Amino acid sequence: METENTYKNEIASFLGCDSNQLFLFWKGRVGLYTALKACGVRKGDEVIVQAFTCVVVPNSIIYTGAAPIYVDIERHSFNASFEDIEEKVTDKTKVIITQNTYGLSSSVKRISEYCAENGIICIEDCTHGFGGMHDGKSNGSYADFAFYSTQWNKPFSTGIGGILRVNNLKYLPEIQELERSAITPTTREKHMLNALIKARRYFLNDISYWLLLKLYRQLTAWKIVVGSSSPEEIEAPEIPEAFLKKGCNTQHREGIRSLKRLAVVLKRRKANALAISAFLKSHGKTYVSSDLQANHSFLIYPILVTNRAEFMNLAENAGLPMGDWFVSPLHPVTANFNLWGLNCEDFPVATKISSQIINIPLDRKSLKKYFGFLDANQHFIL
Ligand SMILES: *Cc1c(COP(=O)(O)O)cnc(C)c1O
Repeated sequence: METENTYKNEIASFLGCDSNQLFLFWKGRVGLYTALKACGVRKGDEVIVQAFTCVVVPNSIIYTGAAPIYVDIERHSFNASFEDIEEKVTDKTKVIITQNTYGLSSSVKRISEYCAENGIICIEDCTHGFGGMHDGKSNGSYADFAFYSTQWNKPFSTGIGGILRVNNLKYLPEIQELERSAITPTTREKHMLNALIKARRYFLNDISYWLLLKLYRQLTAWKIVVGSSSPEEIEAPEIPEAFLKKGCNTQHREGIRSLKRLAVVLKRRKANALAISAFLKSHGKTYVSSDLQANHSFLIYPILVTNRAEFMNLAENAGLPMGDWFVSPLHPVTANFNLWGLNCEDFPVATKISSQIINIPLDRKSLKKYFGFLDANQHFIL
């Protein structure tokens, strides 16, 4: 309890909110699910969400019985198009989810104002956005709820983990009730997570990145270790057993540790993002506009390439860490989109971008190594 409170206080002071607004869960998606349940979202309701997200987001919507209604993204910000949102709203729309893709804040102020005017609940998917600001306030300040993820590759990590922030305090009793009904992680899960956190701390570097990534994915697929997503979650939107799960002390302790370094890491990410933008600009390539960067916090840097498979292979051979968020409008799903009620053809921007995107991690102290590689392979870059 004490560790949990310390962790909540640290998060609250970083975000500039009160610690009683914060709830800790096993994963970020559980925070989203809890928010949807607390609002009474159920069968017959519609929840608007962008195509170009992680599949666990529509999963949580479908678990409540509601239908995800997708909107396309803007090419320059990778976030939902406001015009498309307005077009898709019906009298069944209960919630609009807005996402900070790569840490680039969405138009959350505008969207949450629109929601308030139309009696719709707004939830901010801040899984990439912890530590960034939007119009003078921390990401996650404007919507009725925001959820953050502390999974491996998110802004700061507790291995896996999630935070729900409740801004509309009228929902506090429902959230508290749901939190009471949540189960606790098993001893095995806690030990496993602890071991993975240690392994990552001691073994992860540029050279081992690709090897460990492959090993982790394989062990997860075999269900030998606790993964970010279980194989079922990617196969079909059916609620897994024991889904509504609380956070545990292993996560809280690691969270406290990792938050201590976050200010330094954020600064480095920002400087690295600016350097990549300058590089891409000087080579006449697509880069993220600086007005989007001003108050935002990059998590990873998006680059569009012509032949992703080939480009990723080259990066792997050169030993450079590189990510592939998102390989489809519902990452990492690549087939049977109809199970999630999505027809990719209706979302041309999201579909196209998800075939061209790669992401560069921004945590490294020196990015020089990347530039040599990018320069040598610039014929792939759009
Ligand atoms: C990672 C991610 C999530 C889910 O976070 P978890 O903590 O893994 O549940 C949700 N939305 C987006 C956009 C993500 O990238």
